[in-house]
Amino acid sequence: MKKPFSKILIANRGEIACRVIRMARQMGIATVAVYSDADAAAMHVAMADEAVHIGPSPVSESYLLGARLIEAALTTGAQAIHPGYGFLSENPDFVDAVDAAGLIFVGPSAAAIRAMGLKDAAKDLMSKAGVPVVPGYQGSNQDAAFLAGEAEKIGYPVLIKARAGGGGKGMRKVGDPAEFAEALVSAQREGQASFGDPHVLIEKFITSPRHIEVQVFGDNHGGAVHLFERDCSLQRRHQKVIEEAPAPGMTSEVRAAMTEAAVTAAKAIGYSGAGTIEFIVDGSGPLREDGFWFMEMNTRLQVEHPVTEAITGVDLVEWQLHVAAGAPLPLAQDALQINGHAFEARLYAEDPSKGFLPATGKLEHLAFSEHARNDSGVRSGDSISPFYDPMIAKVITHAATRTEALDGLLRALGETHVAGTATNAEFLSALAQHDGFVNGSFDTGVIERDLTALTSSAPLSEAHIAFAALAALKLDPKARDFGFRLWGHAEHALRFVYDGEVVERRITLHGDGAVSLADDLNDGLKLSQLSIVGAEMTARIGDAKTLITAQVQTATRNAELLVSVLCDGVVRDLLLPDPRSGLAMAADLGDVVVAPMTGTIVALGVAVGDHVEEGTKLGVMEAMKMETSLLAPRAGTVAAVLCAVGDPVEGGAVLVNFEELAAE
Ligand code: ADP
Ligand code: ADP
Ligand code: MG
Repeated sequence: MKKPFSKILIANRGEIACRVIRMARQMGIATVAVYSDADAAAMHVAMADEAVHIGPSPVSESYLLGARLIEAALTTGAQAIHPGYGFLSENPDFVDAVDAAGLIFVGPSAAAIRAMGLKDAAKDLMSKAGVPVVPGYQGSNQDAAFLAGEAEKIGYPVLIKARAGGGGKGMRKVGDPAEFAEALVSAQREGQASFGDPHVLIEKFITSPRHIEVQVFGDNHGGAVHLFERDCSLQRRHQKVIEEAPAPGMTSEVRAAMTEAAVTAAKAIGYSGAGTIEFIVDGSGPLREDGFWFMEMNTRLQVEHPVTEAITGVDLVEWQLHVAAGAPLPLAQDALQINGHAFEARLYAEDPSKGFLPATGKLEHLAFSEHARNDSGVRSGDSISPFYDPMIAKVITHAATRTEALDGLLRALGETHVAGTATNAEFLSALAQHDGFVNGSFDTGVIERDLTALTSSAPLSEAHIAFAALAALKLDPKARDFGFRLWGHAEHALRFVYDGEVVERRITLHGDGAVSLADDLNDGLKLSQLSIVGAEMTARIGDAKTLITAQVQTATRNAELLVSVLCDGVVRDLLLPDPRSGLAMAADLGDVVVAPMTGTIVALGVAVGDHVEEGTKLGVMEAMKMETSLLAPRAGTVAAVLCAVGDPVEGGAVLVNFEELAAE
C-alpha cells in the first residue's frame, strides 16, 4: 500500500504517542511530537523526528489546547493529526477545527463523534437502528422526582449515568429507592465537574454483568468491518484493569449477533476509522443472543486495542493512517479471523495496599519481560508526573490458548521490574491467578468482591532481604578466585528501611563461601552456592532443593541507597538510609576496609596473612583525580584482599577483610 502521509503530528503523550510514532516510522512517515513543560524530556519527544513545545504542564494549558496543536501541525508541515485516546480524541469541535485548517484528523468525522458523544442520544440512535440497548430512561426530563419514578418503573438496582461521562466517572449504582435522591445529586455533580454537563440517564443495572465490546473499523467509502470482541469485565470503579480477546465462553451464534449489531451501529453513523461498540452482557449464565445491550460507542482507538491486534494480526494504527488518507479498508470481513488468545494488563504507578493511591516519582529502574509485548511511554530514569495518568505500561501476551496466554501474562508480570515507585504489579498477578478469572467465569464485580484478598501484599521475604544485603554490601563471591574461603567469619550489620519499617540483619560470611543472615529472633538463614552475574544473583537458601534467582538493582537517591529486588515475581524496594552506615558499623567492628567513594585502586601494599597495625596504609585509590589512602581500622591479620591494582571499585565496596578478633 502506498504511504498515506509524509508527516503527521501526534496530539498526545505517553505510551499511545510512542505507539503511533513507532508505526509511523515503520511506514516511512515523519513524526512531530508535542509536549508540555513536564514532558520536555519524555520518551515520546525523544522518539519523534521533531517536537513542539505547546505549554505548561497542566493538560488544560497544553494537551487540551486544540488551537496550539493545529498551529504546531501547520508550522511543521504535518498533513494529519493523530489524537491517540483521551485528551481531544473525541472532541468534535477539535475535529472541525482540524478540518477547517486543511489538515486531516486521523479518526471519524465530527458528525459521527457528535452522534455518539452523549450516551442518551447514542442509545436513541442505536435503538432506532435496531441495536438492543440497556432498558432505561434517556429522555430530557431531569426532574428529580420524575427520575425517581422512572427508576421505580425500570426496577432496582439501577445505574445513574452522566450522559457525557467517560472513564467510569459520573456513574452511581443505586440498589435501594431510599438512596436514589442522594446518588442522583452526586452523579449530577460529578457530571458537571468532570464534563461540564449534569444531565443523566437511568439504566437497569444488569446483574452479574460482563463488559464485552466489539472493535469496528469503517472507511470513507461506506465499508465497515468488525475485528471480533474483547472482554473487559475485570474492572475497578468502572475502569478496565485486564482485558482479553476473544471473550471466554463466546459461541459462534452470540458472536455473530454481537458483531452484526456492532457493524450495524457503525454503518448507522457512516463511521470511518477505528471505533468500539461497548455492550453490557448478562453474565449470570451462558452467553445468549438476546443477552447483550449497547452501552456506548468510543469513537477512537481504545487503550486495549493491542489484544485485538494480537489475535487478528492487524495493526490498527496502520489501518487508521491508511483509512484517514482515503484508502479503502485493507481487508474484507471474510479475510479476518481469530488466531489464539490475548491478554492485556494495565501496569500503573499506584499502591493497591493504600487504596490504589497514585504514586509519582522516579522510575529508578524499568525492565520488561522479553516474553510479552510491552507498550510503554517511560524508560528507566523517567519520572511519573502528577499531571497525567500514572500508567507505566500495558503488558500484552498472546498464545494459542487462553490458559497459555494467561500463564504468559503471569510470567511476564513476574519478570517486570519497576524500582523506585509503587506499582499495581502484584495486584495484577493476583488477578491473573484468581480462580473465577482463570476459569473464565467472572463478571465486573469480581475485583470489588475479592478486593481484600487481591490487594493483600505478601510480607517481605527473607530471600529479598538476603539478596538486598548482598547487593548493599557489594559482596561478590565470584569476583576473586580466592573467594570467601579466606575471609574468616566477617560480620556485617545492616539496617534497611522497608515500607517505613526498620529491618535489621547481621550478615556473617563463612569460610565455605556461604552467607548467613540473623536477627534478634532468628539466627541462621544460610545462603550457599552464591553466584552474581551483573544484576542477577542466584543462591540456595537454607537446604531448599532448587536455587533461587533474583534481579537486584541499586540506585543512590540523595544520601540513601535504594536496593530493589525482584525475586519470585515480586519486587521489593529496600532503603539503606545512609549507604555507608551499615558498612561503617561493620568497619566499627574493625573487620573490613571499604572504598570511601567510587574510583580506581592505584596501589596495594597488603596481602593475605599480613599483620598490620592500626592506621597502616594498605593501599591508595584515586577518585575524581584525587588520591585517598586506605588505612587499617585496627591492628590485625588480613583475611582477604578483594581488589587489585587497576580495579574500578564502587563507593562502599568491601576492599579488605580482617580476621576476626578472638572473642574475649
Ligand atoms: P472506556 O471509555 O470504556 O473506559 P478505555 O478504558 O479505553 O475505555 O479508556 C477510557 C478513557 O479514559 C481513555 O480515553 C483514557 O485516556 C482515559 N483513562 C483510562 N484510564 C484512566 C485513568 N486511570 N485516569 C484517567 N484517565 C483514564
Ligand atoms: P464510560 O463512558 O465511563 O466507559 P460506560 O457506559 O461504558 O461508561 O460504563 C462503564 C462500565 O460500567 C461498564 O464497563 C460496566 O462495567 C459498567 N456498566 C455500565 N452500564 C451498566 C449497566 N447497565 N449494568 C451494569 N453495569 C454497567
Ligand atoms: Mg465505556
